[in-house]
Amino acid sequence: MRRTLIAGNWKMNGSLNGNAALLAGIKAGAAQLSACDLLVCAPAPYLAQCQSELAGSSVAWGAQDVSEHASGAYTGDVAGSMLREFACSHVIVGHSERRAYHAESNAVVASKAARALQGGLTPIICIGETLEERQAGRTDAVVGEQLQQVLQALDGADIARIVVAYEPLWAIGTGVTATPDMAQAVHALLRATIAAHNRAAADLVKILYGGSMKPENAAQLLAMPDIDGGLIGGASLKSEDFLAIARAA
Ligand code: PEP
Repeated sequence: MRRTLIAGNWKMNGSLNGNAALLAGIKAGAAQLSACDLLVCAPAPYLAQCQSELAGSSVAWGAQDVSEHASGAYTGDVAGSMLREFACSHVIVGHSERRAYHAESNAVVASKAARALQGGLTPIICIGETLEERQAGRTDAVVGEQLQQVLQALDGADIARIVVAYEPLWAIGTGVTATPDMAQAVHALLRATIAAHNRAAADLVKILYGGSMKPENAAQLLAMPDIDGGLIGGASLKSEDFLAIARAA
């Protein structure tokens, strides 16, 4: 049985004061939730704040990126071991904004995922197609290739420890959401791709949907058999919206 995971991606948003209010709201609402796990992925400078505000609560915290290297001359990068020092449990890897603005290839994403696992972090590996790719009928090929490259870079046993997030690029931050059937079809394909590498892992790996998930559409998406949670951008910045999505799970 896969437990639903509702993960917030704050992207490059926040301030110490604003975060304190947001985290307090999430923490208070989380105390009434038992059907799903909650996670917030904050900008790196705020991880210490997440740790001090959330420690001892049921809400986990994580980062939005990790270096593919262990340590050394990589100015501006953050190592997995550093994230673990702030008790991060998860890290987002290969978000489409990292792929687009930082030229992260499938190979880089795969090595970041492997590095995260080595460091005891759960990577949330983001994959998804552009609108042009969907319209050209290439969705399955594109997302299949993105996932294959990660799976090939991992030890078989590690595959069970990843989280995958299907995030169609045309749905991120646009207000347009994939229909539940559209998302389910891709999630089922991704699970079959995992099964081809490790049958047992396919039943364990959570596959989240991301792309304009909000309180109004969350229940229908989360009801689909292969949608195990959500990666939430904009709606994770308001505690009421984030909690309403979690309550829909
Ligand atoms: C995201 O950034 O991962 C995301 C899904 O954003 P939004 O929910 O705002 O579409």
